[in-house]
Amino acid sequence: MTMQDKQEQHQKRMARKKAVIDAAIAQADQDKGLLLILTGNGKGKSSSAFGMVARTLGYGHKVGVAQFLKSRRDTGEEKFLGNQAGVQWQVLGDGFTWDTQDKAADIASAQRGWQVAQAMLRDATLHLVVLDELTYLLNYGYLDAEQVCADLAARPPMQHVVITGRAAPDCLIQMADTVSDIQDIKHAFRAGVRAQPGIDL
Ligand code: ATP
Ligand code: MG
Repeated sequence: MTMQDKQEQHQKRMARKKAVIDAAIAQADQDKGLLLILTGNGKGKSSSAFGMVARTLGYGHKVGVAQFLKSRRDTGEEKFLGNQAGVQWQVLGDGFTWDTQDKAADIASAQRGWQVAQAMLRDATLHLVVLDELTYLLNYGYLDAEQVCADLAARPPMQHVVITGRAAPDCLIQMADTVSDIQDIKHAFRAGVRAQPGIDL
């Protein structure tokens, strides 16, 4: 095959591919508030969610972030995104126990935290709500998954919600529009590298 034949074959193949992709794009003509789940053992769940926060702010829309943390630490995302106009940033874990030494206290803390998230899920001015590390509270049984799913279902129709955390329960995966399961192939921590500012926190 001559170089010109190869070139023509490549062009034909790309034209066919473009036609298929253009048809798929033309078919996806709906708008809706999405529920996204970012789960799995690999790195990239919360940082992806904060990427969507930055994108949303780029359009001048408002964002709510609820971080269900086990322990308090300073993070780059809070330092930067938490100070932007249009962002409601709530850390729900600071001063809480989440330590399973006192399950009743943990449940009470989780439920107080969920009330803050509920207020975001009722606020139609928030274009995006991030519920960071929510899955842990569901897996520990600190929050009732049915209640959480009902509150998510009742949110404003155009509000997007991103939920992060390992081992997302099935009921959330069932109701979500987009689910990514991030695989852990390698992580620098296992080679003895501590969390690096800007990359890990
Ligand atoms: P990130 O915030 O970096 O996107 P993540 O939200 O996917 O991470 P988490 O389980 O919330 O993952 O963990 C947060 C911290 O733990 C980050 O510092 C991250 O680099 C680190 N981490 C994530 N996955 C792993 C892993 N498989 N092994 C070791 N450390 C990890
Ligand atoms: Mg995370």
